[in-house]
Amino acid sequence: MTEIQVLPPQLANQIAAGEVVERPASVVKELVENSLDANATRVDIEIQGGGARLIRIRDNGHGIAKAQLTLALERHATSKLASLEDLDAIRSFGFRGEALASVSSVSRLTIISRTKEQSEAWQAFAEGRDMQVQVKPAAHPVGTSIEVADLFFNTPARRRFLKSDKTEIGHIDEWLKRAALARPDIHFSLSHNGKLIRSFRPAKDDKSYLNRLTQVCGKAFVEQALAISCEHQQMALSGHLQVSSEALAQPVQYFYVNGRLVRDRLINHAVRQAFVESAQHQPGGFVLMLSIDPGQVDVNVHPAKHEVRFHQSRLVHDFIVQALVSAINQGQALPLDSQPQ
Ligand code: ADP
Ligand code: MG
Repeated sequence: MTEIQVLPPQLANQIAAGEVVERPASVVKELVENSLDANATRVDIEIQGGGARLIRIRDNGHGIAKAQLTLALERHATSKLASLEDLDAIRSFGFRGEALASVSSVSRLTIISRTKEQSEAWQAFAEGRDMQVQVKPAAHPVGTSIEVADLFFNTPARRRFLKSDKTEIGHIDEWLKRAALARPDIHFSLSHNGKLIRSFRPAKDDKSYLNRLTQVCGKAFVEQALAISCEHQQMALSGHLQVSSEALAQPVQYFYVNGRLVRDRLINHAVRQAFVESAQHQPGGFVLMLSIDPGQVDVNVHPAKHEVRFHQSRLVHDFIVQALVSAINQGQALPLDSQPQ
């Protein structure tokens, strides 16, 4: 008989990494979400070699205190959750305390951070193989920089699955565009091999938000989009719905629940139904944000948190259908009414 053994922490982290760290874009997602959870207003993303060589995320958030740097890298170590009740009403992106442990187990990871209470920054370095963390002084303004070098250097099976630099940077850019729509208040930039490839300045008003929307979804989307804004009890739906008379090849379809981008069949179904009920248009693109009492939605369905479960899914579904149908119907009436007789 083979004996049952507890996995060494390093191996356990690498196995957990399999679930959340699929490719460079997933590292970028986890790190930028940490920056947003730290109340950063500016996040700069620097990529080299499609992300396999280097991913560096720099933010101006609240930072990590020197005494906590090592802990941040440990599995199940988080500042965002203390009890099961907290999980029921979680507002932060993170809560599992796994991302840094996972990423550092499959790369060479450096954190440099400074809190506003500290007069200097500190740096911690962890290399996949042994989780010995060294802490030493460094230079950095208040905020955090995380550098992930040589992703998957010790997990060759994963490394082989990486596609060309162009494909990987495409995934990163695609993720960033979606994040940028949910957080118009944040200044984001993305560079690849030293060249700036995307920059989002903070959008302070509707007009600059429409600029950001055009940057992400294209001109046609914005020209054909109806603005959605609808509230019902503890839910609110806002955003844009594209209404086009032609079938669209690849409509932009982004849905966010409390700022989190999710893929959800219930939502896709609701959108399709709204178009069927209004019986006028081809299903088009959408960028929709649902705000809902966090107690009404379970985000702890999958480690990467792409999925959610609504406690009252029927209610959410019907609310979305209603909101969209009325927007489509009103949207149609508008040009007619405003036409001079
Ligand atoms: P989680 O986000 O689920 O808490 P992570 O492994 O992603 O887990 O991060 C662990 C902890 O490290 C976070 O709870 C947070 O306290 C700290 N942390 C990580 N990144 C940052 C950052 N950019 N700014 C401030 N604190 C951070
Ligand atoms: Mg996190």
